[in-house]
Amino acid sequence: MHPESSLTRRDVIKSIGAGAALIGLGALGSKAQAAAAPAAPAAPAAPAAPAVVPASGPFTLPKLGYAYDGLEPHIDARTMEIHHSKHHQAYINNANTALKDHADLIALSGIQILQRLPAVPDAIRTTVRNNVGGHVNHTFFWEILGPGASAPTGALAAAINKSFGSFDDFKTKFAAAATGRFGSGWAWLNVRAGALVIESTANQDSPWSDSAVPVLALDVWEHAYYLKYQNVRADYVKAFWNVVNWRKVEANFAAAS
Ligand code: MN
Repeated sequence: MHPESSLTRRDVIKSIGAGAALIGLGALGSKAQAAAAPAAPAAPAAPAAPAVVPASGPFTLPKLGYAYDGLEPHIDARTMEIHHSKHHQAYINNANTALKDHADLIALSGIQILQRLPAVPDAIRTTVRNNVGGHVNHTFFWEILGPGASAPTGALAAAINKSFGSFDDFKTKFAAAATGRFGSGWAWLNVRAGALVIESTANQDSPWSDSAVPVLALDVWEHAYYLKYQNVRADYVKAFWNVVNWRKVEANFAAAS
């Protein structure tokens, strides 16, 4: 379950009035409903809604499903603590500050905002892109990590084999996307137009803003690995395979398919 309750959403909608609530409800419903809400800008080819729509802003830091040292020795406790409690919290603080006078956006989930970036006012669009992106991307990332090595099974394993040849070939290609991303960014396994694709984004750009649905992610910002791996990103990427929660990745794939 997402840590932010639907009560929060209802309270927010109630507090900002019927006009904004209509926007929020339209965005939550079908494309037809969204189009019927005059103030809701049309989302460019928005992907299917996730099975669980994350709660709307103001955003709060989600609890991890494991302890900070739960991913040792592959991702160290100090990195996890700083990454979660400082870096992720900073994205949340910046996002909430940027959105505070924008009730229509606050009524939306983070994913919905990322799917509508062109409609976000110019004055806050870059801040929203970076910081709502940072919040949504990190929330997603924490959930696909977990203690203990596992491997994909079932429909996801079959789709990986079909798209990339084998699981080993997939890992090689994903690692290439992760190590090849210049500067800060992310490697992704996405569902795009019904197919699995390996992609990467710069900074906190998110697949949700680009008509795709993420299934697996790897944060390749230096803040994700520098304390333990220093400049050797490739070793961090190799270690990542030991802490992927493939059951969650399978659930993401099922929801996206
Ligand atoms: Mn990060």
